[in-house]
Formats: sequence, structure tokens, C-alpha cells
Amino acid sequence: MKKELDTRGLDFSTRCVHSGVYKDEVYNSVVTPIYPSSTFYFEGPGQTSGYDYTRTRNPTRVALEENLASLEGGAGCTATSTGMSAISSVLHLLPENAHIIAGHEIYGGTFRLFNDIMPKRALKVSQVDMRDIDAVRNAIRPETKAIWIETPSNPLLNLTDVEAVCRLAQEHDLLSIADNTFLTPFLQRPLELGADLVVHSTTKYLNGHSDVVGGAVIAATDDLAEQVAAICNALGTTCSPYDAWLVLRGVKTLSLRMAAHEQNGMALARFLDQRPEVERVYYPGLESHPDHALACRQQSGFGGMLSFDMHGGEDKAQAFIAGLRLYSFAESLGGVESLIEHPASMSHAAMTPEGQAAAGIGPGTIRVSAGIEASHDLIADMEQAFTALD
Ligand SMILES: *Cc1c(COP(=O)(O)O)cnc(C)c1O
Repeated sequence: MKKELDTRGLDFSTRCVHSGVYKDEVYNSVVTPIYPSSTFYFEGPGQTSGYDYTRTRNPTRVALEENLASLEGGAGCTATSTGMSAISSVLHLLPENAHIIAGHEIYGGTFRLFNDIMPKRALKVSQVDMRDIDAVRNAIRPETKAIWIETPSNPLLNLTDVEAVCRLAQEHDLLSIADNTFLTPFLQRPLELGADLVVHSTTKYLNGHSDVVGGAVIAATDDLAEQVAAICNALGTTCSPYDAWLVLRGVKTLSLRMAAHEQNGMALARFLDQRPEVERVYYPGLESHPDHALACRQQSGFGGMLSFDMHGGEDKAQAFIAGLRLYSFAESLGGVESLIEHPASMSHAAMTPEGQAAAGIGPGTIRVSAGIEASHDLIADMEQAFTALD
């Protein structure tokens, strides 16, 4: 009898398929049912099935939460309505007037939350070059409570040494929180490197099919996991059973998809690296990437995200993008279909031109989310778009 299969000790890809899944004890369904019920009846005073109200706890959502906690190696997980709601919820762990340290180049929505919204709630943020551990140490103040890690960074794929930053956080009694959206636990597990919390936009690789927005928080300890669950329940940031079901379906193929994304990421990076129209390629899998050695140490692969600078600035970059047939010109990432975008005018438009320049985002910078199509088709499409520029 399967009933609540114990998947501890099984391989990562086996846990993707089986962890948390078996919630139907009546019909032995192989797939987790969607339990849309907003409320669950009591059999008597204080007698519940373990569920009473869906904002607080729902069997479909619990299935996803157990799965993601297993994959990240955490004590517990709360699945949220979006990646941003996961991030907003986690910030509620911090006391009043807290200060946090983050990198220069962080996800645009996180940047907006840190700089426009949270300061009104008395949260202060310092953004530093996270590759420089002394810069991180020097930014610590008496009121500092957390360090925010996003590696690889978006869009230029700079890496943070997660172990070194988490050690520093521990020495100063700070929470270390890692956004693991870009690599997923298949390629990087921040909790094993010392982080206290991992956040995800499940919208991206975990769901992987560009058909849901969602998020998750995975905590290293039971205590933190309980605090996060209580905050998400109080704020109302948990996700719907339908969305949990979709992400759980997506995550079952995570290992296969990530291997394909990675293969295409590498193939495109190598192709672009030898094109005369391209000034520079940003991909941690290339030996020429300044953080290549760190990537080999803390990641088990390089992922499917890459960026490159084109000669000729924005006009040439936009003309190249317009000539592509297979890639969708769109923000977001991590789906099975390849996407391409222009950070300066799209994903990072919230940054000032000076801020973009300081971060290294130029008018000719293009970001690619490599999908799972055949590498030779993706390369051939870029080849014809380059040829059409002449
Ligand atoms: C997309 C993304 C988010 C925000 O997630 P949403 O699901 O869009 O709210 C946060 N962090 C990173 C790294 C992302 O790529």
C-alpha cells in the first residue's frame, strides 16, 4: 500500500515524481486530486481531518509543499500565490526597522519591493556587490537582520558564493535568504550551503510550462517553517489548490527539463561566443566566465539562462530579435519554449539608465531563456537572424 509514500533517501528525480503526491486514501489515485473545497467539516468539537480552511492548509497544496521541501532539503515549505508573495511574506519575519543587505543586480520586482514599498514599512536595504565578501561584511550594521542572496544574478549571471555569505550571516546572527528561482534545487541547494530560507518563483522552472504564477518558501528548520506558514496564513499569501496542482504536475519532469535547458544553454553560449556580431556572452558554463570555478563548486550545472551583448547597441539588438522565428519576444523564463528579451527596455526598465550602466546592462544586452527544443533548431534560427542583419 502506497499511502503517504516515504521518499527519504531516494534519488532527486524519483522524489520529483513521488514526494508528497499520495493524498487520496479513498480511491488510490496515482495523481494528487485537486481539493477545491474552501472549508472542511469537523467531525465534532476539535475533531478535524487535519484540514479546516484552505487559506491555512489544503491537501493539494500540502502535496506540493512536501515535494518542494524534499527537493530543497528543507524542514518545511509554504506554497504561495506568486514569487513576489513568497518574498513579501518572508520579509515579515524581520522586526521593525530592520536593515537587509542585497546584491546590486536583483530581480526587478524584488528591487521595487525593497526600494519603493518596504521603506514605507521602515525596512532599509543596502545593495552591494555580492561577489565582494568584504563589501557585504562592511555593509553590516547593528540593525542588520538579513542577507538576501540571488545567484546567478539577473540578467548578467554573476555568482554569489553562497557558503561564504551564509557563514558571514551566521557569525553575525543574520538570516540568510536565497532566491533559487534561476537554478532550482536540481542544480543548486542553498540550504545545504548554509542558507536559512529559500524562496522561489515557481512560475519559472519548477512549474516549467509558462501556465501558472506561483511561489514557495522553503525553510531549513521546523521553527522557521512554522513561522513562515503562520505569516502566509495571516497575510493570505498561500496559493490556490488549482495552481498547486499545476506546479506539482510540472515539477515531476524537473530533472529531464533542467538537463535539456542546460544542454541548450551551453550550446547557445558556445555558438554566440564565436559570432562576430556578439561582443560578449554571459554564461557561467563558459570557461571564460569570471565565476566559472565557483559555478563548478556550488552548482551541479549551469542552467538555461544566458545573456549577451551585441555590437551596434539597441538598434542591432532589436533587429536581431525581430528576425527570430522560434523564440518568443517575452519577459519571464524557465518554460519549455525559448524566450528572448531586451533587459534595458523590458525586465530591467525600472532601473535608471545610470543604474543599468552601473550593473553592466547595456543597450545591446539581450537575455535568453533557453527552452527544451532541439539545440540545432535554436542555433539555426539565430544563425538566420544574424545573416539577415547584413
Ligand atoms: C520571476 C521572479 C520572481 C518573482 O516571481 P513572480 O512569480 O513573478 O511573482 C522573483 N525572483 C526571481 C529570480 C524571478 O525570476
